[in-house]
Amino acid sequence: MTILRLILGDQLNPLHSWFAQTDSKVVYTLMEIRQETDYVLHHTQKIIGIFAAMRDFAESLTARGHRVHYLKIDDSDNRQSLTTNLDGLIAVYEAQHFEYQFPDEWRLDQQLRAYCQNLAISSQACDSEHFYSQRDEAAQLFGAKAHWLMEMFYRRMRVKHNVLLEENQRPVGGQWNFDHDNRKTWPGVPAVPVDTRPRHNHTALWQDIVAAGVNSFGTADADDFRWPLNRAEALQQLEAFIAEGLPQFGDFQDAMSRRSWRLFHSLLSFALNTKMLNPREVVERAEHAYLEGHAPLPAAEGFIRQILGWREYVRGVYWAKMPAYAAHNYFDHDRLLPSWFWTGETRMNCLAAAIGQSLQYAYAHHIQRLMVIGNFALLAGLAPDAVHRWYLGVYIDAFEWVELPNTLGMSQFADGGLLATKPYVSSAAYIDRMSDYCKGCFYDKKARTGDRACPFNALYWHFFMRHRDKLSRNPRLGMVYRNLDRFAATEREAMTLRAEELLVDWEKNGI
Ligand code: FAD
Ligand code: SF4
Repeated sequence: MTILRLILGDQLNPLHSWFAQTDSKVVYTLMEIRQETDYVLHHTQKIIGIFAAMRDFAESLTARGHRVHYLKIDDSDNRQSLTTNLDGLIAVYEAQHFEYQFPDEWRLDQQLRAYCQNLAISSQACDSEHFYSQRDEAAQLFGAKAHWLMEMFYRRMRVKHNVLLEENQRPVGGQWNFDHDNRKTWPGVPAVPVDTRPRHNHTALWQDIVAAGVNSFGTADADDFRWPLNRAEALQQLEAFIAEGLPQFGDFQDAMSRRSWRLFHSLLSFALNTKMLNPREVVERAEHAYLEGHAPLPAAEGFIRQILGWREYVRGVYWAKMPAYAAHNYFDHDRLLPSWFWTGETRMNCLAAAIGQSLQYAYAHHIQRLMVIGNFALLAGLAPDAVHRWYLGVYIDAFEWVELPNTLGMSQFADGGLLATKPYVSSAAYIDRMSDYCKGCFYDKKARTGDRACPFNALYWHFFMRHRDKLSRNPRLGMVYRNLDRFAATEREAMTLRAEELLVDWEKNGI
């Protein structure tokens, strides 16, 4: 009997129990398909990275003695659809049983479920053996609550998995969360870690992808590709981060600078989301660094919170709320994305930097995604679905289970506050405090009205004016509305006028 086992492009975990022993009855398949390149317009590096890592994974499985059937994007027998290819492979190998690991995306989960229901042979799905939590763990904790507080989930996870805990199950250092210590700006010192990631040349692969007719955007850097392609490279990157980045991670977690595109962030999300790395080993490594005295507690805790807390929590939100979640639009926002989301060419320095580096590296760190690009999108009333599709396409680490709750929920408040207790928006003051973007910007960070006034200022107040009915009763926004009401009526009118001018047409206004 032959068993066909499917490995998806984000299931590149060589430690999965599937691979513990070789079995000549088992054929593994990986496929590069248009179905997956085309469901959204992707950044070039994302397509290259996933295909190159899949090829590397297939080669390593073959070298370990496993049977692998790999379908390249331009193979003549590649039908470009997951299920049509599976039909073909089941026929070729006369497979009598089909297996897959549970996908992390709802779309693929549905497709494979439906496929297996109609399959003439037996089938089975198994765990991807990656996450700390089960799909329904957040739903079990929060149930019908209106607000799902990440902090509550995170503390549960710390206790359940015994991370940074004293013997009495109290948090090490007497505090669960050191977020308040993690808000320094970066003055240029200490120096950021040197980028030691290996370089790859994927020009040939890139030419194949283009020849197959796949559309994409962003800088390819195919001849100088820097994202890790296998577990060994990912582990090297983890070690480099623990040595050089983690000690400063806490202090500068929220900082932004034109002088560094990654500051002290780990750049591990691609390796984690494709499952080259397991979150447990990353968390354990950071905890050890603290216990060995190599990294301060606020840095280790801050980093661990992102992985054990946020990453597992957003996955729980995703599985509890899909598919309806994707359609949420609390503020009924419907504006198109300005064209400079695809070029980075805007006179707003902060957006030019954050979008520019997203296009160049397929990467922006959290505060750039949240407090520059997402902040602007929410203030400007861009359609959440269009914003979601842009984020899903542009980042190397973007897979819907993690991207959607972050974009729609945390960043755009489109779920009406399930995930965030208030909208993450700010005027220029926050961006100026946390970055060096405002220095030398065409716009005046202090002005609210006038042609050179920073667009974030008028848009910020306009946002709160136009959504007063939905937001003014939020206890966390009392101060905002008190400040808004302190403005003279003429000032509020002038800000409204400035915001409306801006919103009419970004291109025409030369923003
Ligand atoms: P670091 O800052 O070094 O953090 C370490 C790890 O923590 C990351 O690798 C990541 O695995 C995890 N992490 C940190 N923050 C989050 C978070 N909010 N949610 C889930 N995991 C987190 N992350 C993705 O992996 N894929 C996405 O598509 C994605 N889209 C986002 C969209 C928006 C609007 C926002 C605000 C955030 C998004 N994030 C996403 C979360 C976060 O920005 C990225 O995980 C992080 O920037 C990746 O860079 P890093 O590996 O250097 O992270
Ligand atoms: Fe951004 Fe305004 Fe600062 Fe310019 S002045 S960088 S637009 S916040």
